[in-house]
Amino acid sequence: MRYSEMFLPTGREVPSDAELASHQLMIRAGMIRKLTSGIYSYLPLGYRVIRKVEQIIREEMNRAGAQEVFLPMVQPAELWQESGRWVHYGKELLRFRDRHDREYCLGPTHEEVITDLVRNGIKTYRQLPRNLYQIQTKFRDEIRPRFGVMRCREFGMKDAYSFDADEAGAEISYRKMFEAYNRIFTRCGLNFRPVEADSGSIGGSYSHEYMVMADSGEDAVCFCNACQYAANLEKAEIAGPAGDQPSGPALPLEEVHTPGVRTIEEVCAYLQVAQQEVVKTLIFSADGEPVAVLIRGDHEVNETKVRNHLGCDALDLAPDEMIFKVTRSPRGFAGAIGIKARIIADYSLKETYNCIMGANREDYHLRNVNPGRDFKVEGYADLRVIRETDPCPRCGGEIHFARGIEVGHVFKLGTKYSKAMKAAYLDQNGRERMMVMGCYGIGIGRTVAAAIEQNHDADGIVWPLPLAPYHVIITPVNVKERSLSEAAEGIYRSLLEKGVEVILDDRDERAGVKFKDADLIGIPYRVTIGPKNLAEGKAETRRRRTGEVAILSLSEVEAFLMDRIREGI
Ligand code: ATP
Ligand code: MG
Repeated sequence: MRYSEMFLPTGREVPSDAELASHQLMIRAGMIRKLTSGIYSYLPLGYRVIRKVEQIIREEMNRAGAQEVFLPMVQPAELWQESGRWVHYGKELLRFRDRHDREYCLGPTHEEVITDLVRNGIKTYRQLPRNLYQIQTKFRDEIRPRFGVMRCREFGMKDAYSFDADEAGAEISYRKMFEAYNRIFTRCGLNFRPVEADSGSIGGSYSHEYMVMADSGEDAVCFCNACQYAANLEKAEIAGPAGDQPSGPALPLEEVHTPGVRTIEEVCAYLQVAQQEVVKTLIFSADGEPVAVLIRGDHEVNETKVRNHLGCDALDLAPDEMIFKVTRSPRGFAGAIGIKARIIADYSLKETYNCIMGANREDYHLRNVNPGRDFKVEGYADLRVIRETDPCPRCGGEIHFARGIEVGHVFKLGTKYSKAMKAAYLDQNGRERMMVMGCYGIGIGRTVAAAIEQNHDADGIVWPLPLAPYHVIITPVNVKERSLSEAAEGIYRSLLEKGVEVILDDRDERAGVKFKDADLIGIPYRVTIGPKNLAEGKAETRRRRTGEVAILSLSEVEAFLMDRIREGI
């Protein structure tokens, strides 16, 4: 492509809301433009990169045996009512009515549509397993669209759905997708990790998020430096305590006057004790029922773990009225003794004895509280947020924290949708059984943005070769000089013939301007045609990533570039 003919509005200006490097660079490099909040247009350069990612995904999905479909974006309310999500999905689901007053939504994801398609098309075990995927536009009315196409409202997603006859089959389908995803993100040239993620009530480690590692990432992940364990913070497990028994004699219970002392910091300051000696009693409303969660003062409750442990849908901190009802005291003095609520406790409580706790009486706390002796705990479980000092739950190794960008997600759905929507098949014995499903998503635009987060410098984007919109840019330093433009033209034509994706910067601009643009848009190789080198029949090649320069004779340039492109470097 000739630069002079391209729609490639590069620039230095960035909108004030562009905090992330990727967002700024995508705008500066003329890849995207905002239409309205969370809704972006892709310009030619940006769309080429999108197509590269899509192509890699298509090849790997096809290789894994998935088949491509293309489903509607507009979806009727009835399907969502069947699955129950019309009520549960909340405001991210954009709903509207047509002229006949029928209700619809814009698809944020396609479980309902695909389940409907498959339940009507698959009747017997002989037609299973199947995996169908599409690359298509989703709409999610995100509360706070930000970071450009990283978290927007309209975005391209690859979503795949597998249907199996049983759990064992679903496990194989899941593994295939897991491996396909590893190949996809490796081929994109990204530094990524699959991390275990919460799978809600389905249980097990049947969900992985694919994280592109970047300090600017929204998600915190932890990983072990000794084994393969990696999880997001919500999911990260903490091994139970080695010993169950408190290791000291239980002292007599004692009530202490603590006027106006409510928070853990206030309690510690007032009683001159460490946070480890205090037990926090948090009262939650779990599907409307009060539950007291006990945890050592220096730990944080992980609400996802509490929700999974209780198997409830809604979990919120209890309102003041509920706290008063179960403790007979205002907020800030809750404790386990005499509370009228189920009590569950974090594993950390198993080793805690003679601790300090709220007295369920305004302005009072208790000293020397001992679980077991003073109150009964319904169950102990892992209910807290992991810390960097915790050992790896698998091997005891060191846990490290890092930040990442979630670009993909693989999830074992089980029979959630097939049951709700009656996606059944007949097994070998003619018995009706539910299909076992999995779903697998990749955000296309987010993957591109994440690639930029990981691959840029002060001058602009540094594309990994497999995602680069073009591989080579040829820059004659002065197009008015015929010998320079003719030499540039010659290399351009022969590279085009060889199928290399190449830009000829034929603009009548100063060399400095052209170099800046080439760096900004991140083209992996630049060939500079200048008078000094050309006089000797040579040109300069420069690698964007390293700044490495090679002066080659014109006849060598082509082979040099082709070799590198073939090697993907
Ligand atoms: P997040 O927690 O970031 O909101 P999610 O869990 O809602 O993501 P999924 O429903 O698993 O995401 O969607 C699959 C993929 O789609 C994600 O891994 C991500 O790459 C992409 N994605 C999700 N929401 C957005 C968005 N608002 N903008 C761009 N990409 C998105
Ligand atoms: Mg989301």
